[in-house]
Amino acid sequence: MTDHPRIPLAGVIGHPIAHSRSPALHGYWLHRYGLQGHYIPIDIAPGDLADLVCTLPRLGFVGANVTIPHKEAILGIADHVTDRAALIGAANTLIFRKDGKIHADNTDGSGFIANLRQGAPKWAPAAGPAVVLGAGGAARAVVAALIEVGVPEIRVANRTRARADALRSDFGAKIHVHEWVQAGSLLADAATVVNTTSLGMTGKADFRVSLEELSPKALVTDLVYTPLRTQFLIEAEAKGCTVVDGLGMLLHQAAPGFERWFGVRPEVDDATRAAVMSA
Ligand code: NAP
Repeated sequence: MTDHPRIPLAGVIGHPIAHSRSPALHGYWLHRYGLQGHYIPIDIAPGDLADLVCTLPRLGFVGANVTIPHKEAILGIADHVTDRAALIGAANTLIFRKDGKIHADNTDGSGFIANLRQGAPKWAPAAGPAVVLGAGGAARAVVAALIEVGVPEIRVANRTRARADALRSDFGAKIHVHEWVQAGSLLADAATVVNTTSLGMTGKADFRVSLEELSPKALVTDLVYTPLRTQFLIEAEAKGCTVVDGLGMLLHQAAPGFERWFGVRPEVDDATRAAVMSA
């Protein structure tokens, strides 16, 4: 019997998953680089996660992305978890090894930084304090990444104080926790300002933090990318700030997984952005 080479499969695991832009992104890259492979949305309910993830390698999957609500639970299922995924407390990228083991990593933080480096090449992370609005899952990846690139102080404000306090205990003395109502007053000398809340996203509550004290020298970025130009970014740009939208983070966090699964490091460029936005 001939041993036929299998076409590599990958996908994004979530619940629900129909809204995900990842299939359009990976599908675009597969087509662009003329590669064999498929990337599909995989809807798995929380109670089925452990059982179904373990069957994917046998079906020909070489890896997967993981999204809400499974990013934390997957750590307890993977055989190997990278240090950064363990520190963040969540994984977004799985590699199914030839020996059957599941390797879990988190590329949100590196995707966040790569997006800023590409969108604002003059950004100097060590130039001053960063303000991080929000303390949810994405904020943990952002905080870890900002510390790694040398931000001297990170001011965190979150509606639910306990989540910000948890960041302080997990990431140490560089984190300074403030009340949510104080958020606007933290901005005056900030070199980097990041919205990691879902405020301003289509269908969610409006972003209402006052930007009156924001310095025009600050780099301002929003993790929300629907809409692409959020009210927060529009106001910051009007104050003279350099702004970077959140779509690039989504694209950059996807690149390492694509490279591991399909063998080509994909470009994140205007054509990639256009392909995902039009999907
Ligand atoms: P999450 O864990 O649910 O956290 C949501 C955050 O938003 C929390 O800090 C929450 O505060 C805050 N929030 C929600 N409603 C609020 C309100 N009415 N007033 C004040 N704060 C409010 O979600 P996540 O995974 O961190 O994602 C956060 C956002 O980032 C989402 O919009 C997501 O789409 C986006 N994201 C983008 C990328 C990308 O690649 N660009 C990657 C990951 C996430 P509480 O703690 O008080 O609830």
